[in-house]
Amino acid sequence: MPQRLVIGNWKLHLTAPEAVALADGLAKGLGTLDWDPARVGVGVAPSFPLLVPVAQALGGEDARIDLVAQACHPEHGGAFTGAVSVEQLASVGVRRVIVGHSERRRIFGVDDPQVTRAVHRVLDAGLSAVACVGETLAERNADRARDVVLSQLDAVLQGVKGSAIERLIVAYEPVWAIGTGQVATPEQAGEVHGWIHERLASFHPSGSQVPVLYGGSVKPGNIAELATTPGIDGALVGGASLDTDSFLKIVQGVIHAS
Ligand code: PEP
Repeated sequence: MPQRLVIGNWKLHLTAPEAVALADGLAKGLGTLDWDPARVGVGVAPSFPLLVPVAQALGGEDARIDLVAQACHPEHGGAFTGAVSVEQLASVGVRRVIVGHSERRRIFGVDDPQVTRAVHRVLDAGLSAVACVGETLAERNADRARDVVLSQLDAVLQGVKGSAIERLIVAYEPVWAIGTGQVATPEQAGEVHGWIHERLASFHPSGSQVPVLYGGSVKPGNIAELATTPGIDGALVGGASLDTDSFLKIVQGVIHAS
């Protein structure tokens, strides 16, 4: 069974004091739950300037909640103004990096070759990559969801060398469900998760252990149904991760389903 995980993507939200308060509330709230991080991992992804204060609020090196970055640049260093490297992220305690989020693809022009390089850099540095794949509504309506998702997944897998797959996490995020309130049905999501798990298992013997998260308008009210759907190993949560109670309820939903 792949590990279960819930990751909150805070996107371009929160000032440092707000982020620290949220991180503090989550650390305290999770401390009151019957929660084993080895069974259900929990992570939060603040924007770059908030990583250090959030890491401290989560408990520094003793933190039970993982520090996650929203993106990285695939170069080690050099003349790349405005970019942030994997080594820089690792040096402030980041354990996982989201790669190829649909907002990075659509707004910032990140393409599959860049995703391949970023996945490779993240895994090579010993961190975990949370690689996002997902089709647009037009692609789904044109019956192209399977082709799109699997070709994005193949680009991700080109960046994975041998046993580094053990640090890979895939997030299926249908673009039409992100921030829209329109969640994929368990049948729709379950079908795509099945395709992804199948491809991962045929790629590498350890591929069957890669967690595949669902993302797209996950809320406390729909997590139970999603988390009990075969093939869904957890959630990548945007909007609902900005509220302590909502995020804790989502984590509880995944704990109960595991
Ligand atoms: C996301 O940002 O990855 C996401 C899934 O957002 P939301 O939960 O708001 O749809």
